[in-house]
Amino acid sequence: MLPRLLYKGFSHYLANQSTELEKMSESKRILIVGGVAGGASAAARARRLSEDAEIIVFERGEHISFANCGLPYHIGQVIPKRESLLIQTPEAMARRFRIDVRTRCEVMSVDPGAHTATVRGADGAESVEPYDKLVLSPGAAPVCPPIPGADLPGVRTLRNIDDMDAIKRIVDRDAPERALVVGGGYIGLEMAEALRLRGLDVTLVELAEQVFVAADAEMAAPVHRQLVEHGVDLRLKTSVTAIEPSGERLKVALSSEESVECGLVIMAVGVRPEADLARDAGLEIGQTGGIAVDEQMRTSDPDIFAVGDAVEVTEFVGGGSALIPLAGPANRQGRIAADNIFDRPSVYRHTQGTAICKLFDLAIGMTGMSEKALSRAGMNFEKIYIHAASHAGYYPGAAPINLKLLFDPESGRVLGAQAVGSDGVDKRIDVLAVAVRAGLSVQQLQDLELSYAPPFGSAKDPVNYAGFVASNVLAGDVKLCHTPDMLAPGDNQLLLDVRTDGEVAAGTIAGSVHIPLDDLRDRLGELPSDKELLVFCAAGLRGYLACRILSQNDLACRNLTGGYKTFKDATDAQP
Ligand code: FAD
Repeated sequence: MLPRLLYKGFSHYLANQSTELEKMSESKRILIVGGVAGGASAAARARRLSEDAEIIVFERGEHISFANCGLPYHIGQVIPKRESLLIQTPEAMARRFRIDVRTRCEVMSVDPGAHTATVRGADGAESVEPYDKLVLSPGAAPVCPPIPGADLPGVRTLRNIDDMDAIKRIVDRDAPERALVVGGGYIGLEMAEALRLRGLDVTLVELAEQVFVAADAEMAAPVHRQLVEHGVDLRLKTSVTAIEPSGERLKVALSSEESVECGLVIMAVGVRPEADLARDAGLEIGQTGGIAVDEQMRTSDPDIFAVGDAVEVTEFVGGGSALIPLAGPANRQGRIAADNIFDRPSVYRHTQGTAICKLFDLAIGMTGMSEKALSRAGMNFEKIYIHAASHAGYYPGAAPINLKLLFDPESGRVLGAQAVGSDGVDKRIDVLAVAVRAGLSVQQLQDLELSYAPPFGSAKDPVNYAGFVASNVLAGDVKLCHTPDMLAPGDNQLLLDVRTDGEVAAGTIAGSVHIPLDDLRDRLGELPSDKELLVFCAAGLRGYLACRILSQNDLACRNLTGGYKTFKDATDAQP
């Protein structure tokens, strides 16, 4: 008994000692630069891990923890109340988390050797703040291209509440007839929608041949149609060359030699990481211009962490260095940095670029690598397209989803996915985001048991269905062809349209012969046995069935994945 009691007493003593030691090690002074997504997450997590730490957040602007992602929706009056975007106030952060939030305070420089940051306060006075640990979450600033007139008062960028207020003021007060949005990324697209909702005529100018450039061009084609259907004057492959005042308005000169008169210009041509503070402090900067960090979000200085839009990340699928400015990664990284500050081993496992954008009645979403990115990285891939219904076709409201799946032709691993449609895009992209993250193969997509009742999906969900189609390819049940094959078939190839007479009458691919699927078995003799048949239908299913008939009758064939619908999108998207 005695030894046991002694042991108990000793372990109690040890426990007390280690609690004291922990307390000592946790009494840290933590400075955080930037009080929005990454910074606020790091601050709140730090407090949850330590009641003793002194946590100070410096925010250059007036607001902390506001909903950047909601800014366009307040301008468009979808979110009527401005306060809805102000998720936290410094007072609330102080009350709930005992965090010292100092707004209108800019961190001007960091001295890693001295463990100090120099801060300019709201009154302009500078102070030197010591730290044990520093977290940089300064975000990314809108790029302002060096165009004459880009600094005129009617030319605005959108990053924070002040920017939103300024844009809204122009719309409310001046009621301009037309706005010109420069850039077709998600901020440009969301602003085009917001301004249309406010009744303005909108011109959207995009330098590339497509909007939402992270996705592949043929997937953006429905977005282009959506913009035009909603009255947006879309100018692709066009840039702004100069802006000048024209009476009360602005005259915007375009690379097409045309000019547009408008009352407001929104510059949304991208963002660049705010890495100057880190660079000036001698911290390592990555090849993309973002702050270099390790998997624990630690910079080249062991006591300085960096998170959010300002950091360079590793792209999850291909492993390349990338800048992927998104809210989810920033929030998770803030939490991970705080974990590691308090010696909780926590690792950021790269960014896969899962993103979605709403445009009027349409959503476009993506995860993992695009075809463009895979090609750039020299990675081997195959792709399939499906056109499925968002839920059972017999239940009201079903809408088509156009889904593209990219996968490794050897292992079947899912490398990326993109989807566009008016219903259910978010759900499919999120399931496929999990598939990419978990390293699932297309064969495993077939096995996913997803929720189903007619209002929500189909017994074969589009994700399962994409798995079936891709698995058929890997099993060698069917060979695929793509739009370029149809546009330039070889002498030894023949295009075969297996759709109905009515569908063909509405348009087909030049040079194709037509045999409807249901007549195919009876008319096999009409087909040349010395040519490869490039078969197509509307969406790919009947083409697949035709290929099964043809190949079992010893006729060489390939099926156009995604069918005529994808062909149309791909040719629409061509420069
Ligand atoms: P930020 O949230 O930008 O915060 C950085 C803060 O640091 C800024 O407030 C800045 O003032 C402050 N700061 C910088 N330097 C200093 C300094 N030296 N001293 C003190 N303070 C400093 N992402 C999505 O995933 N989905 C969306 O739908 C989406 N929509 C968006 C819509 C808009 C209009 C915008 C602007 C962004 C959107 N984003 C979206 C991107 C998302 O908001 C960012 O990825 C995220 O906010 C990044 O968090 P962060 O902490 O790195 O930077």
